[in-house]
Amino acid sequence: MADKLIKTRFAPSPTGFMHIGNLRTALYSYLLAKSQEGKFILRIEDTDQVRLVEGATDVILKTLEMTGIDYDEGPVVGGENGPYIQSQRLEIYREYAQKLVDSGHAYYCFCTPERLESLKDDKGIGGYDGHCRSLSKEEIEKNLAEGKPYVIRQRMPDTGTTSYFDQVYGEVSIDNSELRDQVMMKADGYPTYNFCHVVDDYLMGVTHVVRGNEYLTSTPKYCLLYDAFGWERPCYVHLPLLMGKDEDGNVSKLSKRHGAVSFQDLVADGYLPEAIVNYIALLGWCPKDSNQEFFTMDELKKAFSMEGLSKSPAVFDYEKLRWFNSEYIKKMPEDLYQEKALPILDEICGDNVNKKKLAELLHSRISAFSDIKDSVAFVTSRLDMDSSLYTNKKNKTTPESCLEVLKDCLPLLEAVSDWNNDQLFAVLKDYAASKEKKAGAVMWAIRIAVARQGITPGGATELMEVFGKEESLDRIRLAISELE
Ligand code: GLU
Repeated sequence: MADKLIKTRFAPSPTGFMHIGNLRTALYSYLLAKSQEGKFILRIEDTDQVRLVEGATDVILKTLEMTGIDYDEGPVVGGENGPYIQSQRLEIYREYAQKLVDSGHAYYCFCTPERLESLKDDKGIGGYDGHCRSLSKEEIEKNLAEGKPYVIRQRMPDTGTTSYFDQVYGEVSIDNSELRDQVMMKADGYPTYNFCHVVDDYLMGVTHVVRGNEYLTSTPKYCLLYDAFGWERPCYVHLPLLMGKDEDGNVSKLSKRHGAVSFQDLVADGYLPEAIVNYIALLGWCPKDSNQEFFTMDELKKAFSMEGLSKSPAVFDYEKLRWFNSEYIKKMPEDLYQEKALPILDEICGDNVNKKKLAELLHSRISAFSDIKDSVAFVTSRLDMDSSLYTNKKNKTTPESCLEVLKDCLPLLEAVSDWNNDQLFAVLKDYAASKEKKAGAVMWAIRIAVARQGITPGGATELMEVFGKEESLDRIRLAISELE
């Protein structure tokens, strides 16, 4: 296999949203291929008709597009091994299932649902007793002629063991006696995942199967299918589970109770696709010989290798994602950032607010775009005033000293015609100098009066520019009357 071009795939079932764990699988599979100039396939596994969710395929396509995981073959783009949607490949599975029936590795099974039910134990777990393994050719033909429903089962060896080497977990071995004769083709003519993904991986030339470790122990069965067909087995790369932190400090499989778990929800919460990709790239993989944390997709393609994969479960940490996101937001060029921030401000702020300026002040201060709403609550409404905010040790201010400043400055500010930061700053600075006051003390009084909260994005004059003349002066008048 050494000099063969590496080919990987992502094979999601369109059963709902795009779970972060699935996205990580897609990313690692893609990176493995691209780190070695290989090809990456997208295949939609929709043979379990009961679990299909309308629109889920579009969500998958959209997610891959937004994250920059582009596939060389797949739905929409096509390719030489298509179709890439399993429900369009039913004939192929039938043909290959029949090949295994002909070679004795599979057989028709006519057992009724009632009979299968009776094989279940008290816990409702059923084995299969191989009842139809030895039906004669005549019996089979008679049943088929009578139109009896049937499935096709894989005939497992009764003795020996089946082993394979997983790139992450090492040797995996199972006693064949533990394997039941699993269904390959269902009565409705659809194949099972257990069968058709093997046929597809082979026909599509997949060399490396990257997927979640829930398939670790069923892979021996898939290896037996490769062996039965006489095909070379692929290389297996099973990925550890993604966990979430529980309230009690323990961890459990990442699920909704930990927070947003789908790519769409994280995006809706204001996380940037690049930040999400960067963060999840590190959830189970780390670069060799470096502590690098920030990666563009191109850098990931260069740095990725299977040796960096970990087999211990990775814990999804929302705080860490927020940190990544804040760094990505800071790095955004101002115009792109404004494109995302302004529509949010447009929805919540009145027309008199200088939203561009406000967005600018928030640029380095938010960790997610969804933070904007809370961060500007002091702009969209006049918060309850806490007069102790006027007291500041460093600037030696008190409510009394602030009242004096506000009263002095009100007429000076009323006279300002060009309401911008520089003008306002000059006016307040001159006033401070004329009264031999510290500029800081003057700014403090005005900032608290205008913002009505202690911590603000931006200083007194910047905030006055955001509020505009009328609202700023109204707030100062209100502060004066409260202090009096
Ligand atoms: N359709 C399977 C799933 O979504 C794919 C597993 C695999 O990659 O083989 O879990």
